[in-house]
Amino acid sequence: MRLGRIASPDGVAFVSIEGEGDARTAKEIAEHPFGTPTFTGRSWPLADVRLLAPILASKVIAIGKNYAAHVAEMGGEAPKDPVIFIKPNTSIVGPGASIVLPPSSNEVHYEGELAIVIGRPCKDVPASKAYDVVLGYTVANDVSARDHQKHDGQWTRAKGHDTFCPLGPWIETSLDPSDLEIKTEVDGVVKQQSRTSLLLHDIPKIIEWVSAVMTLLPGDVILTGTPEGVGPMTDGDSVSITVEGIGTLTNPVAAKK
Ligand code: MG
Repeated sequence: MRLGRIASPDGVAFVSIEGEGDARTAKEIAEHPFGTPTFTGRSWPLADVRLLAPILASKVIAIGKNYAAHVAEMGGEAPKDPVIFIKPNTSIVGPGASIVLPPSSNEVHYEGELAIVIGRPCKDVPASKAYDVVLGYTVANDVSARDHQKHDGQWTRAKGHDTFCPLGPWIETSLDPSDLEIKTEVDGVVKQQSRTSLLLHDIPKIIEWVSAVMTLLPGDVILTGTPEGVGPMTDGDSVSITVEGIGTLTNPVAAKK
């Protein structure tokens, strides 16, 4: 199932997105998409509504340095254990929303990533049971002010600006995430192209590691790391990230007005 969230003339709703291409339809889900969703009977052509970020997260946890070729391009060493950091949920925006460049940075980078969406409250999940707590997967851009990252020595400011966590276009609930192509394009030029099979720490390990630290709640999002090819975005660019089996997340980039 493809789960999304929309703004329609009737308000904001979680939906199931069915069909392909121009024939896509958004079927309204009653209340929330966890467990077995029930439907209200209302639906809209997807072209008539606006997709929002597909989930409301209490927190976004991200994994750093999780593809060897990205670690190499950043000049570091691959960590033995996952390195985690938090992006505030106020950094989340949906497909089509502008990534706003803060005036304090001259070096804002895209980072295309596969994102895990948690489906139920959990703590201390063993890797062998990790997939039981997953609602599905979406596409993320872990937008990063590289100059802030270097200046501060830690990543909260660099990764935490409003609009620095585009998510979408929807959550795919039926997907084997272990070997999917991930691709980032800026104005149609391919900048990143890799596969999730190259993750240094795989999804079960990530869920075990993060849930050993903190309780995960339904809707929480875990970004799994970016492959090599990171680079700058500037005012007027359009950034598209595609994960095989999910879809394409596209966001324009704009200087702060
Ligand atoms: Mg990242």
